[in-house]
Amino acid sequence: MSNIRHALTARRADDFAAWYQEVISAADLAEESGVRGCMVIKPWGYGIWERIQRLMDDRIKATGHDNCYFPIFIPLSNFEREAEHVEGFAKEMAVVTHHRLIADENGKLIPDPAAKLEEPLVVRPTSETIIGDAMARWIQSWRDLPLLTNQWANVVRWEMRTRMFLRTSEFLWQEGHTAHENAADAKEHTLRMLEVYRACAEDDLAMPVIAGEKPENERFPGAVETWSIEAMMQDGKALQAGTSHYLGTNFAQASGIQYQNREGGQQYCHTTSWGTSTRLIGGVIMTHGDDDGLRVPPAIAPHQVVILPMLRDKPEDEALLAYCEDLRAAIAGTSTLGEKTRILLDKKPGKAAAKRWDWVRKGAPIILEVGGRDMENGTVSLLRRDRLWDANGKPDFSAPAASDATGLIPGLLEEIQQALYNEAAARRDANITRGITSLDELSAFYSGDAKYPGWAEVQWSKPTGAALDAVVEKLKALKLTVRNVPIGAEPVSGTCIFTGEPAAERIYVARAY
Ligand code: AMP
Repeated sequence: MSNIRHALTARRADDFAAWYQEVISAADLAEESGVRGCMVIKPWGYGIWERIQRLMDDRIKATGHDNCYFPIFIPLSNFEREAEHVEGFAKEMAVVTHHRLIADENGKLIPDPAAKLEEPLVVRPTSETIIGDAMARWIQSWRDLPLLTNQWANVVRWEMRTRMFLRTSEFLWQEGHTAHENAADAKEHTLRMLEVYRACAEDDLAMPVIAGEKPENERFPGAVETWSIEAMMQDGKALQAGTSHYLGTNFAQASGIQYQNREGGQQYCHTTSWGTSTRLIGGVIMTHGDDDGLRVPPAIAPHQVVILPMLRDKPEDEALLAYCEDLRAAIAGTSTLGEKTRILLDKKPGKAAAKRWDWVRKGAPIILEVGGRDMENGTVSLLRRDRLWDANGKPDFSAPAASDATGLIPGLLEEIQQALYNEAAARRDANITRGITSLDELSAFYSGDAKYPGWAEVQWSKPTGAALDAVVEKLKALKLTVRNVPIGAEPVSGTCIFTGEPAAERIYVARAY
């Protein structure tokens, strides 16, 4: 395969971080903005986000939630009501203190001391505390429960180490917030939304994940339980792709979310919150990208099919464009994965080959090139992005009849969606190591020759408090973290690899983003 001339310069196998950055620019997804940790999301990147948003929103609504919108500014005192919450977020809050600027003696604009806010306003890092206020107003009796809301918004967390999509200071997300009568209902809902995230990741993003509970040290500030979906990237690192929290009555007590129960008594609600963000796009890049750029799963591709007419600046172009337009209209009339097939006829000027490689790098699932000869033969030249190269290192074009392409494409797109999932799932399964029985073995495993060693599934005694801190420190020395305790794991059969005590559960250990 060495004779392939790949469309990127960086290679995943050599320098995964450089490769990731190159995909983002080569696929025209986003760029640095000049503001620390904040990015500009470009049309192709934002189009992918809109697709994820649409599919996720449908799933959130299908589970009974309504969308709302709450203010971006949250009074500082709201945070102070929940001690763990404020402690967790204090380090990364952006705070507004003034509402006017004036010129100083040098003509430089400075915040006007006379326009100092009585109470500082925090730019929301998450909205539990302001949505809690609304819940306290909206909920009177058990008849108002469950209250199921969701918000699509931007949030700000002043992250110290940022990386585009994966960890930005401003990011786009959805945050669900719900209130329930009792712990059982709220916990059930926490897991229902985790399942929504699993389904969206696996079925829409073709990104296999492991759903499970986070250990105590990784809990959301103020949560009683935190659950996550974790995806394995191609460098074997874990990406926390979404989280669902059972908050107990902690936030209900902080915000006074009470209701009259069925017996007539006053009681605190049990609440949940859950979120997924533009980080998912980083997950898509590192799950499906290859040495030629991004490969976008058809379900979230803004254009699933791109037609490239091989224009030559000659009078014949007109007939070629008419031929392509007929093809476009026919394919646009078909349905793929339950929606209208999304197809673009790219008439922009430029050499067809250069345009082809642009769309390869962007990862459009199917490219149809149409030249004069195709038109004469009544065919199209079809390139699948998931299988770009033939055995001789050449782009693997097939040449179906144009009349057949229309019928073929929905099935092909569905096949590509499944193929991307299968490839990622097989890679994940091949990179999970089981059977490590001691910390020494774990250490040896992660200090071995493998550049991308993947995850280890180990058994532990579920330590808490100081004992857990000690384990976390030991793992940190190996640059490892505990990911989650998977739902539906095999029963335990041995001893804890950290303490030697009888094992209580299985956990995943990995390097992580
Ligand atoms: P949390 O509210 O902390 O549970 O975050 C919800 C989800 O948002 C996480 O599971 C991540 O997928 C995502 N997320 C958290 N912090 C960031 C960040 N700085 N940039 C992008 N996504 C983030």
